[in-house]
Amino acid sequence: MTFPPLREELRGIAPYGAPQLSREQAPVQLNVNENPYGPSAEVAADIARAVGEAATTLNRYPDREAVDLRAALAAYLDTSGGHGVTADMVWAANGSNEVMLQLLQAFGGPGRRALSFAPTYSMYPEYARDTHTEWLTGHRAEDFSLDLDEAARLVVEHRPSVVLLPSPNNPTGTALPPEAVTRLCEAAGSYQPGGIVVVDEAYGEFRRAGTPSALELLGTHPNLVVTRTMSKAFALAGARLGYLAADPAVCDAIRVVRLPYHLSAVTQAAALAALRHAPELLGRVDDLRRERDACVDWLREEGLEVADSDANFVLFGRFADRHAVWQALLDRGVLIRETGPEGWLRVSVGTPEEMAAFRTALQETRQSEHTTKERA
Ligand SMILES: *Cc1c(COP(=O)(O)O)cnc(C)c1O
Repeated sequence: MTFPPLREELRGIAPYGAPQLSREQAPVQLNVNENPYGPSAEVAADIARAVGEAATTLNRYPDREAVDLRAALAAYLDTSGGHGVTADMVWAANGSNEVMLQLLQAFGGPGRRALSFAPTYSMYPEYARDTHTEWLTGHRAEDFSLDLDEAARLVVEHRPSVVLLPSPNNPTGTALPPEAVTRLCEAAGSYQPGGIVVVDEAYGEFRRAGTPSALELLGTHPNLVVTRTMSKAFALAGARLGYLAADPAVCDAIRVVRLPYHLSAVTQAAALAALRHAPELLGRVDDLRRERDACVDWLREEGLEVADSDANFVLFGRFADRHAVWQALLDRGVLIRETGPEGWLRVSVGTPEEMAAFRTALQETRQSEHTTKERA
């Protein structure tokens, strides 16, 4: 016998995850696109007070439908690119990762397909695998944009039940124009029983001025699902709260597959309290966008290739040995992410001090690389 008697396709697979190092090992952590600005003492105290109140009734199960939280999320979306989003159009779970797994549980499955366009978020193929959904990828253009004719053609040809479109895309930072969402919603609506198009706006709040949110198109396409998270711009990664906005029928479908009481009373209380402080928690988003644009400019001045970014990270390259560069930065206390197409690296946008440390470490790394090459 083989122990443990794991599903064949899971044998030997390493669990997904970026290296998680301590602050002593890596003082400058720019690898998982977190917001570097934590809550103020006042906001932290208010969240703690709300959680303390929830603690007095922890003998009871939480509100299974998370009614108050979904209403608060709907109200927030109306200030963040949406129009007329109502609570019955919103669904919430433990991170948007759980939301997307639930979407695949409800709309994927054996005999069904999920499609995305590479480079894309590395978790998607795992949700497909875990729900026995066939995983297909098309490809983005050289500049990481989508060729809409080709993308729509792939959708019509393969008839996926779920199309996954991160916008801004992780790991490239590329946002999709509204035409792309429209084209693919129409393509996925052109066959029976049709597919849903999930626009993953985990980084939506960081998009550049003039880039609309797919939330604007919700009324036009019943098969459009827009996911968001409190983990990135909202500076609440530790609380684990993600959500979606879609036709109420999508939320009803997810209710069938979700675990009972999946969202704890503690999580609901923390997220509700955080939403009351949205302006403060989101207060540094503009600073981060400016820091991102400055980072893109600086990397280009350094002669590197850099993808345009609408997110809080920047993909840059190309390096003959990207692992060596990643390691040399880590040796200098700066942890970034070795991800994306071969030769590229991704850096999350941190505080001005953290970005200065990143720039110094990268310059030192490239200088010593040149010295090594000259010696060789
Ligand atoms: C970070 C990220 C998420 C959010 O994950 P949570 O589970 O909400 O923390 C979703 N999609 C993409 C593309 C991401 O990079």
